[in-house]
Amino acid sequence: MTEFLQSPELAPFAEKILEGNIAALSRAITLAESHLPHHQEFTAALMEHLSAQVTLARSFRLGITGVPGVGKSSFIESFGQLMLDHYAAIGEPSKLAVLSIDPSSQRTKGSILGDKVRMESLARRADVFIRPSPTGGVLGGVARSTRESIALCEAAGFSLIFVETVGVGQSEIAVHSLTDAMLLLLLAGAGDELQGMKRGIMEMIDFAVINKADGENKTRALLAKQMASDALHYLPKSPSGWAAATHAVSSLNGEGLSQLLHDLLEFRAFVEKTGWITRNRESQSIAWFRETAEREWWHHLESNSRFDALFKEFETAIAKRNLSPFYAAKLFLRRLKDELP
Ligand code: GDP
Repeated sequence: MTEFLQSPELAPFAEKILEGNIAALSRAITLAESHLPHHQEFTAALMEHLSAQVTLARSFRLGITGVPGVGKSSFIESFGQLMLDHYAAIGEPSKLAVLSIDPSSQRTKGSILGDKVRMESLARRADVFIRPSPTGGVLGGVARSTRESIALCEAAGFSLIFVETVGVGQSEIAVHSLTDAMLLLLLAGAGDELQGMKRGIMEMIDFAVINKADGENKTRALLAKQMASDALHYLPKSPSGWAAATHAVSSLNGEGLSQLLHDLLEFRAFVEKTGWITRNRESQSIAWFRETAEREWWHHLESNSRFDALFKEFETAIAKRNLSPFYAAKLFLRRLKDELP
């Protein structure tokens, strides 16, 4: 990394990102998503350079999750514009970046969050940057590169960040570890969906929003809102101290979106006032530091020439039931310590 930190390319590239140059931002995100070791090294150096340059501008990161078809893109399209209009009206014009986490995404196969024309009007705005999910990869890797993408977007002056994901349990946890607030989109019939959800995930929700509350569906949606509200009522408040709010909206005709925005702004003001937003980001960063260190340490072990043989030896012993997995793990580490430099 030191080598890259001294690279003559680094400073001018970082400068372009700080100026809000979209081509440079896109390129930096592509590098962050790359699995090639020298791209990862360059990204680490770039992040280090940028973090020294950026005076932590206030930003707000919202996670948006829900099953395919619930209306995530339609919601982001409508709500994103409403939010941008609000900040422009109060004299704090903001830029919005929409990033997605979808480990199943394979552009060639056409994925749920893939290349179909989504959020058309948002995409046309100069103050909006939309980036689809990186292709393929495992959730951990996608979450890591999304974290870097968030930081890059913020460095490029995007102070509103939406992180969208398909709700499938694990990806909600990933989004939660990246954002300040979590919004779950639901359909009427959401009571069942909420009940089927793991308690741990329900506790992460700051906003439960029933979408498609229009036309014939409106009555059912309002009922679902009540049921969601009842279900969430019995949960402990989230560590932020905010009690999850429930809303019914239509992303198509816009009904209910202003009340939701009002509530979201209240949430933002609340967590800024209590300092929770900063504390939460600190613990997120520490968790990522720990995770990265663990991963790197494991890679370091794996890169040693004796590792494979020793691992194989233990695998065989476990398969033959000569060793229990737990004991084997402890013994394996002890042997590694003794045998590896
Ligand atoms: P995503 O897969 O979660 O991103 O869902 P989409 O935004 O692509 O929406 C799926 C379908 O639901 C599309 O046909 C939308 O037009 C429709 N839809 C989305 N939001 C609403 C809404 O508020 N009301 C109605 N009636 N339809 C909606």
